[in-house]
Amino acid sequence: MQLIEHYLTNNPCYQANVKRADSRYTAFQTNGPKGLMLHSVGCAQPKAEVFCKRWNRADFDKGCVHALIDAGTGAVWQTLPWNYRGWHCGGSGNNTHIGVEMCESDAVRYTGGANFTVLNRSKALADCKRSYEAAVELFAFLCGKYGLDPKTSVCSHREGGKAGIASGHVDPEHYWSGLGAGYTMDGFRADVAAAMQKEAGPAPETEQPAIPFSDVASDDWYADALRWALEKQLILPGSGLFHPEAPLTKAAAVVLLRRFWKRLGAN
Ligand SMILES: [Zn+2]
Repeated sequence: MQLIEHYLTNNPCYQANVKRADSRYTAFQTNGPKGLMLHSVGCAQPKAEVFCKRWNRADFDKGCVHALIDAGTGAVWQTLPWNYRGWHCGGSGNNTHIGVEMCESDAVRYTGGANFTVLNRSKALADCKRSYEAAVELFAFLCGKYGLDPKTSVCSHREGGKAGIASGHVDPEHYWSGLGAGYTMDGFRADVAAAMQKEAGPAPETEQPAIPFSDVASDDWYADALRWALEKQLILPGSGLFHPEAPLTKAAAVVLLRRFWKRLGAN
């Protein structure tokens, strides 16, 4: 994920956070986000930088999101610290949710409201895919950072509107469906969950070295201790059998003790 930190320090939303203008700001700054809201810009402007320039003004009081995703590069332009209260959804979701805008392809032309025609479908789909995939990666990162479950803590602006925590907009679903891109919010949540899984990597058990004795199971109660003893070369692989129930002779005991003593660096 390419993250470009570009805080909109002149924007009045940023300034309200700096001044801790009221309890909504202090609460968000103290508690952090409880959810993440996905938007798309609703105009044919793929460049995040264009919005950053337009919004980074003291007289721009129409909004401020936490990040914009460039549709041409997939780069994430972070415009507010993640624990600042944003102005992104026109409802109480601003008190709880991080807001992220995906920029939209310039291969479409808006004709009024949320309606658009597609000028170049393959380019529009490629731009859409780029911003979608960057959003998946960003949301996986933020869910991990704030301990959020993507299945219950991620919504779109449209879903937020239906739930009564945002204004009645239709993004970003209108963009996906208008392009016939095949993306849905349920699919997005599943993709975020899968990206988190991938990030976490395989479970540690599968990374443990195999035990070279056929009479020892990897989950036997002493298996971890045996792995340690093998790694330290206190026990040697030998014949391939460990005989875990066999008694320890005096002869074997002194050999073991001497190996252990030498491992400690003593003579
Ligand atoms: Zn929106």
